Amino acid sequence: MITDTYNRVHNYLRISLTDNCNLRCFYCMPEQDYIFTPAAQLMQKAEIVALAKLFVANGVDKIRLTGGEPLVRKDAGEIILALSELPVTLTITTNGTRLDHFLDIFLRSSIRALNISLDTLQPEKFLLMTRYDQFGKVMDNIRLMTAHGFHVKVNVVVMRGVNENEINDFIEWTRDTPVHIRFIEFMPFTGNHWESNKVFTWKEMLDVIGSKYTITRLADEQHDTAKKYTVPGHAGTFAVISTMSAPFCSGCNRMRLTADGRMKNCLFSRTETDLLTPMRKGENILPLILQNVLEKAEALGGQFTPDFLQLHAEEINNRSMITIGG
Ligand code: SAM
Ligand code: SF4
Repeated sequence: MITDTYNRVHNYLRISLTDNCNLRCFYCMPEQDYIFTPAAQLMQKAEIVALAKLFVANGVDKIRLTGGEPLVRKDAGEIILALSELPVTLTITTNGTRLDHFLDIFLRSSIRALNISLDTLQPEKFLLMTRYDQFGKVMDNIRLMTAHGFHVKVNVVVMRGVNENEINDFIEWTRDTPVHIRFIEFMPFTGNHWESNKVFTWKEMLDVIGSKYTITRLADEQHDTAKKYTVPGHAGTFAVISTMSAPFCSGCNRMRLTADGRMKNCLFSRTETDLLTPMRKGENILPLILQNVLEKAEALGGQFTPDFLQLHAEEINNRSMITIGG
């Protein structure tokens, strides 16, 4: 088991397959021209599988694939099928644009639930936020996956002045559609122009939703990052990920591998451990993994506190979100 100094057992690994993406969400990608990592510097399929097996042998039982956009990687399907052989709950976070090309793979894989990102229900705003006219495609693919029985969570990054006025439109969508909305507080990463006044908090979201709907809190599961709710009678549910205003670090069980094979013990960790180079040299990397987790800070990468109104994003030492993998 991989345990940190706060006795948190780490059984959940997020693997970024690429830092490449076919969208340009402004809150995720740095504004200046971003050069994607050349393929040779990325973990190759066999390396991803070998690393995943090592983590599984040490207690990991849940793996999420992410990116960048994981489904732009050419061998994404092969990787999904290879990881499906492992005794883990396998999931993926995707922008949804390429799911139709992967339906067959998903049906053959062990994936039964997926997170699809969609920050607006307005096609014009989608174009402004992502720079691509793909709203219709994402909606079609959400319908495709729910029709095939997949459990679909929809990730919505809520930003004041951008899409907080659509919160109840998303709730209305859940009336007849079995999608599970996850409203995410806007987080600071290198180059994403985060400002504290753009964070629309969990409590503010509940006020907006509560002004129109009766809401009931659902029970938390162990390690839950989301506070879950239902509107009685709705086919879908909603949840809030309150990273900024009410972090959930005390139950954290997550580790991350960036697409270039570096391990991060927290989304906000200042440091990372290169696993890929020593692995390519044939070295034993388990001590590096264990040491990385032993260095994990108690909360928020040790970089800030929930008093985020005092936070200046440029003080945070980190990568951009697209290079970490959310
Ligand atoms: N391309 C895939 C996607 O968009 O779902 C996977 C990678 S993306 C980095 C993973 C998740 O991180 C997405 O749900 C995205 O909305 C979220 N995300 C990106 N930047 C964020 C930010 N600054 N604050 C909160 N969530 C963010
Ligand atoms: Fe791409 Fe996902 Fe980042 Fe948007 S949030 S730019 S889809 S990686």
